[in-house]
Amino acid sequence: MDYLYILYGLLILAGLGLLFGVVLVLAEKFFHVEEDPRIAAVEKMLPNANCGACGFAGCHAMAEALVTGECKKVSTCKVGKKEKNYDPIIAYLAEHPDKDGNKHVPTL
Ligand code: SF4
Repeated sequence: MDYLYILYGLLILAGLGLLFGVVLVLAEKFFHVEEDPRIAAVEKMLPNANCGACGFAGCHAMAEALVTGECKKVSTCKVGKKEKNYDPIIAYLAEHPDKDGNKHVPTL
């Protein structure tokens, strides 16, 4: 008899898990915000230490700032190296303007 209560509890938990999973999938689908693909590209070129030494919350925030022009110096990333990180980012942003044709090319 007690096992039945356990079974009901498990079924309720499984149902709630399924319900919340469906809600999360639908929320992701309807509230999805399209992000500038250059941000992900620049983020891949950063060291991805996510140390915050640049003053931003992490490499993604720093990449966003570089792409939007909020950050003007790529060497704001203290962990990066010139040949490995800085130069490729500068070259990439010089070749990839935003959708309006504006270029925000950072300097060293
Ligand atoms: S300093 Fe560089 S590695 Fe550290 S969070 Fe900023 S961009 Fe990422």
